[in-house]
Amino acid sequence: MTAILGCIADDLTGATDLAGRLVAHGMRTVQAIGVPHDADPWPDGTEAVVVALKSRTLPAEEAVRQSLAAFEWLERAGCRQFYFKYCSTFDSTPRGNIGPVTDALLEATGSPFTITCPAFPATGRTVYQGHLFVGSAPLNESGMQHHPLTPMTDANLVRVLQPQTTRTVGLIGHATVAAGAAAIARECRALQEVGVGIAVVDAIDDRDLSAIAAGCAEMQLMAGASGLAHGVADVWRARGLASGADVSARLPPVGGSRVVIAGSCSPATRRQVAVMRERHPSLQLDPMALAADESGAVASAVAWAEPHLADEPVLIYSTAEPDAVRAVQDALGAERSAALIERVLAAIARELVDAGVRQLIVAGGETAGAVTAALGVRLLRIGREIDPGVPWTVSIPTHPAGPPIALALKSGNFGAPAFFLDAWSRVQ
Ligand code: ADP
Repeated sequence: MTAILGCIADDLTGATDLAGRLVAHGMRTVQAIGVPHDADPWPDGTEAVVVALKSRTLPAEEAVRQSLAAFEWLERAGCRQFYFKYCSTFDSTPRGNIGPVTDALLEATGSPFTITCPAFPATGRTVYQGHLFVGSAPLNESGMQHHPLTPMTDANLVRVLQPQTTRTVGLIGHATVAAGAAAIARECRALQEVGVGIAVVDAIDDRDLSAIAAGCAEMQLMAGASGLAHGVADVWRARGLASGADVSARLPPVGGSRVVIAGSCSPATRRQVAVMRERHPSLQLDPMALAADESGAVASAVAWAEPHLADEPVLIYSTAEPDAVRAVQDALGAERSAALIERVLAAIARELVDAGVRQLIVAGGETAGAVTAALGVRLLRIGREIDPGVPWTVSIPTHPAGPPIALALKSGNFGAPAFFLDAWSRVQ
């Protein structure tokens, strides 16, 4: 296998989002969940590989270790350019992990300099004068200041990143970006000469991102959210080394019955559950009942689903309103209830695949991680986006070989209200 672009993402649904963007812009892309094994089978003509880690909130040393393991594998696979993907809200703590992982990858690639740009204008994330905005709000007033794990209390990314890295952080402002690729490349050289190691780059629309990718085309390492990926893919396509969107999005046909597993309690998923419940058989799991009899709950959910599978998609969900979630967390503990529900949803998915389900939508980042692990899925061929950020994928059987399964792994807050109804028609 010889891929061109090697990407390292710090979480699973973010990786899928990035992979979907690359495919939409013409690169045949495979996503690996965790660092691939050397003996893994690869589809011919893979042009980009996205390795999904779960490193966003790990201790920095461990995030660096995993990122370097992914990098070494990608380098062995022939990749010539590398991309470190993090969240478009720059989710990190004062210690990392965006800075430490960028530092480690700079060292590993032997690069003296890189750029970092979380802008994703399609989802309202823009960077201006180094400040990150979510819609019209600066990052620290966007709700992200209350995030339980990575509260973002400063929108100035130069200031946020500097304490995370041993290198000097600089800024490429919008005036330079608007002047185009050549001006950006010149500014990169100028900053490097004055000792800057990482430059935050402004971008307020997709044209800016295209110019950044073109201006940094010779850079071995880039860092950013998935917004910048379209520009990177466009550069490789212009060089004649990526297939083009009509080829890149093709997935092998997968038949079989259809199930939605929802473990996200995010607003978008709550709306999607409400819409599907009106139209198809739906089963809500009660976390207290799961705590009382876990295996019994799995068996009865599977027995409930089976008679419906031949006729129509079914929905199994633990999705609940915030008050109900809090009550469960108070009764069982937050970590214990989360792990219990993830385990049960994953076990149900496993048994339903044994019963013939081959098309699965999974809502929730953690839930998707638990389900893919239970199914033994480690490699995904990436297809067309259903909604921005959520492509259909088909698993590539590894050892021990299972059947190919079509999977849509949806980050909780992604997707339109009718996502669970409309997605099926886009699977091929
Ligand atoms: P999102 O992408 O929306 O963050 P995740 O799957 O990552 O979704 O996270 C949702 C978490 O909430 C999971 O750990 C899941 O097990 C847990 N959870 C799901 N339903 C409930 C519920 N009814 N009560 C408490 N916790 C829940």
